[in-house]
Amino acid sequence: MVEEEVGFGVLFVGVITVALSLLIVFLFFKMLDAVYLSWFKRPAWVHFYLYKKKLSNDQKAILGKGSGFYNRLSSVGKSRFEHRLQCFLNDKEFIPRQDFVLKEEHRLLIAATAVMLTFGMRKYMLPILEKIIIYPKEFYSTIDERYHKGEFNPRLKALVLSWKDFEEGFSIEDDNLNLGIHEFTHAIHLNSINRSDTASAVFSDGFSGLLRLLRNEHLVEEIKKSNFIRDYAFTNEFEFLAVVVENFIESPLEFKRQFPSLYKKIQQMFNFRFAGY
Ligand SMILES: [Zn+2]
Repeated sequence: MVEEEVGFGVLFVGVITVALSLLIVFLFFKMLDAVYLSWFKRPAWVHFYLYKKKLSNDQKAILGKGSGFYNRLSSVGKSRFEHRLQCFLNDKEFIPRQDFVLKEEHRLLIAATAVMLTFGMRKYMLPILEKIIIYPKEFYSTIDERYHKGEFNPRLKALVLSWKDFEEGFSIEDDNLNLGIHEFTHAIHLNSINRSDTASAVFSDGFSGLLRLLRNEHLVEEIKKSNFIRDYAFTNEFEFLAVVVENFIESPLEFKRQFPSLYKKIQQMFNFRFAGY
């Protein structure tokens, strides 16, 4: 009886010691992560998966044809992208409206846009977004009683797209017009507000920096004069971001050449350090 009690006591102390050691290691890494983030304005690591989900060959073929970004990734990058894409597809509800016939191609290419934009972020599931509603073409919005090509509605946690316009955005890769990139940027932006995770912290910090840059009237004048960034950007700060991200993805080299300080801010916010960006 006494031996059993002693044995149990040793086991209990052992378990507590291991648990405390793990907690100390965890807190130590969390602290290092925070220090790295505040020094370098980017996460110490982005991708870590114990197990990676895979796409079928058919899905990969669709992605290979429709996503230039995916094609430019290394083989390691592709497998990470595929894992994230599968998780995103499993998490979101895709809802066709009117006579739109939803196919795998539509789901994949829409999800690929979100995964591309969040590929430099540790958290990429965008909890602010639950539903993706797809219309065949422009749709009537009861919010402002006008026809829209796309919108993000945080109250309904829904991103709404006209497939015709989404597709047009990707068919010409360098015209700086891309509906999918524009609307997902709104979703990422709103998702980052009031959140404390690493990706949101980097994004919000970068966005504050971007607003500081825009206080420079000379720079704003230069942007307006250049015709590189379309006028709609100057509607408000949310639209400014969504429009410049379209330019960032579609014409990165030209963007970097014309407005290096602005380019750097967007690069920091999205932690884009891959596929030539
Ligand atoms: Zn917008």
